[in-house]
Amino acid sequence: MNDQRKRSDARSARAFEEAKQVIPGGVNSPVRAFKSVGLTPLYMQKGNGSHVFDIDGNEFIDYIGSWGPLIMGHAHPEVVDAIKRTAELGTSFGAPTELETEMAKLVIERMPSIELVRMVSSGTEATMSALRLARGYTGRNKILKFEGCYHGHADSLLIKAGSGVATLGLPDSPGVPESVAANTITVPYNDLDSVRMAFEHFGQDIAAVIVEPVAGNMGVVPPLPGFLEGLREITSSYDSLLIFDEVMTGFRVGLNSAQGRFGITPDLTCLGKVIGGGLPVGAYGGKREIMERIAPSGPIYQAGTLSGNPLAMAAGYATLKLLGAPGVYEELERKSARLEAGMLQNARELGVPITINRIGSMVCPFFTDQQVTNYETAKQSDLNKFNRYFGLLLDYGVSIPPSQFEGMFVSAAHSDDDIEATIEAHHQALKQL
Ligand code: PMP
Repeated sequence: MNDQRKRSDARSARAFEEAKQVIPGGVNSPVRAFKSVGLTPLYMQKGNGSHVFDIDGNEFIDYIGSWGPLIMGHAHPEVVDAIKRTAELGTSFGAPTELETEMAKLVIERMPSIELVRMVSSGTEATMSALRLARGYTGRNKILKFEGCYHGHADSLLIKAGSGVATLGLPDSPGVPESVAANTITVPYNDLDSVRMAFEHFGQDIAAVIVEPVAGNMGVVPPLPGFLEGLREITSSYDSLLIFDEVMTGFRVGLNSAQGRFGITPDLTCLGKVIGGGLPVGAYGGKREIMERIAPSGPIYQAGTLSGNPLAMAAGYATLKLLGAPGVYEELERKSARLEAGMLQNARELGVPITINRIGSMVCPFFTDQQVTNYETAKQSDLNKFNRYFGLLLDYGVSIPPSQFEGMFVSAAHSDDDIEATIEAHHQALKQL
């Protein structure tokens, strides 16, 4: 696994050329095109546990995990089995099923702040709907978000966003009307003074603050002590809602997600990724009094042909059940901590400046010796170095997200051998930078 390989990408290159004829940029989501790293995207054939296999026959230890959902690994037998059993009974009805209620009960049991939860089909839908609800509930127009946080591609959230927007350097997308952008206030992450200042100016018209409680779309950036507490305090004192976007952190950083880990109770929470077990899903939930304003119990409209889809519910339910077994998060923590320590030791030995941010199984090396606490400092990372590092890791059989502004995800399927092999690959890659 750890010899540098002459990695063939001829079939992937042909597949990409063909795709570009019929799909914009060849891909259905921008970062997949490997544009910023200047390489041919890998066309995947299959995944098994912690490993993926591309159509050229290359095998990789995978730290993308479908960008977060696959916390139990690829094609986990119990998840696959749940999907198969459900599919045999029909894939969609557009009518309620008991599975949706079971899923809602399980989410509510594990998420301290959620009393009612509505299923949707993506993280984007979850955040977009939560914002509409916050605006409808408060009767206010403005929202406050943080630079470098990504909350999906709804118009009002596509302002100074992270993830692919940051990777491609498109901070404010054409197509978002100025009138919409004018209602989005952005301030630096981890900067309570800026939040306070924004509230002093606009507080009476701020419907909600939306935040990734651990930022994962400018690389991984944990909240500084007191930051989330401060947001809770400020929003409460202005009768503004606090929305935790836990699409990435939900059931990723702990069984009770980031809100459980940090002991903060948001008004609304957005979920996605892990709760779909690899199928398309999203959800938003929170206080009963607020959630009851959604149709049909209230006047604020939101709907979906495939919302609560049986296959997505089955895959998500099976994944959440697996996560409830004793020791899963402790093991994720142990393996991720070993990965972090090994990577740091390599960097020290080789004299490469690196800062690693990690919370649980979200891990992110930045090529800087400065602390990374917001988007400005994340951008200090040597992006050329990162891009070369990314390609070298692929040559040594390790697949990480093709962008400095994304984190690596360790899964329950990663073995100790995978972790050691990754540390060795990291060593080789750093040596050749
Ligand atoms: N919020 C966060 C925190 C995310 O990380 C993402 C996706 N990476 C989204 C929202 C959007 O989710 P989706 O891609 O499913 O629309």
